[in-house]
Amino acid sequence: MTKDLMMNVTPDVTRLTNTLIELIRIQSVNPFDDTPSAGCREQELAEDLLARLHVLGLETGWREVAPGRPNIWGRLKGTGGGPTIMLAAHMDTVGVEGYGDAFEARLVDGKVTGRGSCDMKGAFACYLEVIRMLQASGTELPGDLIIAGISDEEHLLTGSAEMGRSGPHADFGIIGEPSKLAICPSHKGQLGAMIRTYGVATHSSGPENGVNAVEHMGKVIGHLSGLNAELQQNPAPHPLCGTGRFSMNVIRGGAFVSGIPEYCEMEVDRRFLPGEEPEDILEDYRRRLRELKKTLPDLKAEVSGPTLLAPALNVPRDSAIVASLTEAAREVLGREPEFTAFPGGTDAPNLGFPCVICGPGDLAQAHSTDEYIQVHQLLQASSIYLGTVLKMNGLG
Ligand SMILES: [Zn+2]
Repeated sequence: MTKDLMMNVTPDVTRLTNTLIELIRIQSVNPFDDTPSAGCREQELAEDLLARLHVLGLETGWREVAPGRPNIWGRLKGTGGGPTIMLAAHMDTVGVEGYGDAFEARLVDGKVTGRGSCDMKGAFACYLEVIRMLQASGTELPGDLIIAGISDEEHLLTGSAEMGRSGPHADFGIIGEPSKLAICPSHKGQLGAMIRTYGVATHSSGPENGVNAVEHMGKVIGHLSGLNAELQQNPAPHPLCGTGRFSMNVIRGGAFVSGIPEYCEMEVDRRFLPGEEPEDILEDYRRRLRELKKTLPDLKAEVSGPTLLAPALNVPRDSAIVASLTEAAREVLGREPEFTAFPGGTDAPNLGFPCVICGPGDLAQAHSTDEYIQVHQLLQASSIYLGTVLKMNGLG
């Protein structure tokens, strides 16, 4: 296969959009803390993807992360001597509350609509198209190409954590989360933590006889209220990720109005930069509570966590995958691709090899009740992924 011939291989728009419409119609909402049930079965999408990969002649594999919640993959074996590249995507979607025709996927005005269209079944449709284009052109890659479907991205990232531990492993990866085809080698991490205050319960006719855990939490909130602004004063921001963030987002305490509450808990969220350690962040909360205790001696407060931990991503700018992706995107888009941090967390840092975010669709539509993806971005993404894979294998 010569370079010239390969350049004439283009994605088939009908095949690509039909595949995506079929994938959207398989409901795979993340069941969150429930067990998988109708509409919330990643397994149904997993089985469909495995069948497609099998028909294309890939070696397929499957492993359960939790009952009914598998990771799946297909491997297009290389002839030897090239890097193993993974094109990965999560199979789950967020819920559809208030989204009437969420699974009635349609092609309208150059867009495919429906839950999961951009976040992120569109990427699967592109990956399958990459395999078909390689095969149509008779190209044999030196390295293996793996297409991976990951469960549970939208909740606890258990699927990618399992894949990082047990494989399949690759040398480089791309995750086609909706970035409008911007190249995102970095993103912040997310750390959830619980702060608890303990008081002494008593009847509310004599509050002075007890210690009010809810009022103490109010003091904690006041004490931490400047932290978000403080983080944004960081004199050494990350070149792509900028500065960290802090917010106080869930609070529970007290049982009835005539009782002084003995317990209150608050869950706080911290978006941290590559290089920051979750344990240091928890220790910083503890230090701030000790500081508060100096002016509020009967404060009894503790910090625990993580209640949620999504690692930060930081693929070096000089990594081969960044270079190939940038070159391929430049060729397909006819301009310099955007180079930025991905706004949210992803599966990428869990996989254990350099893995860059770059995908069709806009995060603004993800999780909304009007989710869609533009067909021209699906076509561009397919060509960018193909170009990257060829370049990584010395063929492009
Ligand atoms: Zn996503």
